[in-house]
Amino acid sequence: MANYPPEPFRIKMVEPIKMIDRETRENALKRAGYNVFGLRAEEVFIDLLTDSGTGAMSHHQWSAMIEGDESYAGANSYFRLAEAMDEITGFRFFVPTHQGRAAENILCAVMLGDGQYIPSNMHFDTTEGNIRARGGRPANLVIDDAFDPGNRHPFKGNMDIDKLRAFIAEVGAEKIPFGMITITNNAGGGQPVSMENLKAVAAVYAEHEIPFFIDACRYAENAYFIKLREPGYENKTTLEIAQETFALADGATMSAKKDAIVNIGGFLALNDEELFQKVKNELILREGFPTYGGLAGRDLDAIATGLREGLDEDYLAYRLGQTAYLGEKLIEIGVPIVEPPGGHAIYIDAGSLLPHIPPSEFPGQALSIQLYLKGGIRGVEMGSVAFAYPDPNTGEMIHPKMELIRLAIPRRVYTQAHMDFIIKTFEKIKENKDELRGYRITYAPELLRHFTAQFEPI
Ligand SMILES: *Cc1c(COP(=O)(O)O)cnc(C)c1O
Repeated sequence: MANYPPEPFRIKMVEPIKMIDRETRENALKRAGYNVFGLRAEEVFIDLLTDSGTGAMSHHQWSAMIEGDESYAGANSYFRLAEAMDEITGFRFFVPTHQGRAAENILCAVMLGDGQYIPSNMHFDTTEGNIRARGGRPANLVIDDAFDPGNRHPFKGNMDIDKLRAFIAEVGAEKIPFGMITITNNAGGGQPVSMENLKAVAAVYAEHEIPFFIDACRYAENAYFIKLREPGYENKTTLEIAQETFALADGATMSAKKDAIVNIGGFLALNDEELFQKVKNELILREGFPTYGGLAGRDLDAIATGLREGLDEDYLAYRLGQTAYLGEKLIEIGVPIVEPPGGHAIYIDAGSLLPHIPPSEFPGQALSIQLYLKGGIRGVEMGSVAFAYPDPNTGEMIHPKMELIRLAIPRRVYTQAHMDFIIKTFEKIKENKDELRGYRITYAPELLRHFTAQFEPI
């Protein structure tokens, strides 16, 4: 059922990649303490660690970079970006930032106080971190279907409106300086949010006078999912759907490393003029002058061009089609994934694939190591290594609901042959999956341990 759409581009610059031999891979893994974050990129054949900043820019983007204006203040590059921002988002004001998390930091610095709450469908980890760093409390109010891997709800990223109403009633609207929603829901499998749900969320926030900010990293992929799946949107362009999305909100944060297909950059956009003054002051302190915000002029031009390219429907059909191809083929060969395939990544259900390895012995880690050993492929564990934590009262480990590994797909980088190679590698892993063993941790820091933890095989 899965068709691979022909790439709507041809390749005119290449970057060689190489599969090193099995013994060298084994040694590299040992050196890295059985943690793929410790590998050198040149030791990896197909790198699916993230889709952030790893996309291939187009010749239009590269040529726009040559025209970048590096003036400190009032550069032409800034005004070209402002034009694209105005056309697509329609927000009255914006500042560029060096990444998405910088936009989150500034938003939290100017709006969030100690002990206040920020609801969302699901916050991404950097958003959650920035909220907590200011003494705030993030709340994840996604629909329950999101936690059922086999459930093919078309908009599994939707906020649960009843949960949102109950949450506001419980903590009080005055304790919620702003509310959010993440499109698509990265932490929940790259799943989209429907326009109907976005409208309902906006209405609830408006009713309680809570400013509404969208985490818009994958706004274009979300718009295309709406076009494909939501009745009444099949004949709208993705640009129109994006405009309709942003018109519901009071502002947005974005990592341009996602749907603007650049290697670095982001923005914070908003409508409130008074707030914008505060944002500019904070930006000058942390990032740079408001017309460059911690980026080079050429980066602003790449973003301006990339924001438009990210909305191109031929590109989006290929992008979502490629991800779906990988996901549906894996299902066909009996590899359980979070269904339906999301926009930017496939999440493998390692817990179901390796039921003989208990969560305390990290089935996701075992699978990510096999993926590298058998195919030189790098994915990232999103299970008990990343998310288990000790109960503050009993000290007993609390494990997450699912033991996953994420295969994030860089934009316009890999071809069908690479996807087929990944699928073949899973076929090989399946042949002796019952013999695979778990791992134990030999070193781990207290927070965000998956980045630097060290392991040994059991
Ligand atoms: C990547 C990401 C961010 C953070 O952006 P950075 O550019 O990595 O700082 C925030 N939210 C979501 C949903 C993301 O995917």
